[in-house]
Amino acid sequence: MTTSKTDRVNAAVRRLRRAGLRNTAARRGVLDQLAHAVGGRGHLTVTELHHALLAHGVAVELSTVHPVLRQLVEWGTAHTVPVGRTTTLGLADDAHHHAVCGACGDMRQSPEAVDASLATARAVGPDLPAQPGGVVVYGRCAGCRTATR
Ligand SMILES: [Zn+2]
Ligand SMILES: [Zn+2]
Repeated sequence: MTTSKTDRVNAAVRRLRRAGLRNTAARRGVLDQLAHAVGGRGHLTVTELHHALLAHGVAVELSTVHPVLRQLVEWGTAHTVPVGRTTTLGLADDAHHHAVCGACGDMRQSPEAVDASLATARAVGPDLPAQPGGVVVYGRCAGCRTATR
């Protein structure tokens, strides 16, 4: 990763400002947590996100988190990836792959090699929009492969 988490959050906040959205505590908190998640699984469920906000002193109701997330997705700052029956959210600034285990729902983000495949897709696709976000690959993680052996 070339940019730090703070850079990514600040860049996202700048984009929201340009779009005319205010930088509320809830919005900033959500961006902080999404940026923080990038170092790990990459995405968070709404419940995980809400817990993370509370744990970091951002006292918001779950009913406040939902519209914030909807807006961030609408503005292309965050994106959703379904894992089983839950929806997970991640920052959409850098294109990245998502490797999702269909058995346990474990997810890994890998930013590598996405640009090339997206460029290929755009070259052959009929006017594919240059959306940030990425590619989702479903499979079975190492842990689940061992468990079923
Ligand atoms: Zn993602
Ligand atoms: Zn698994």
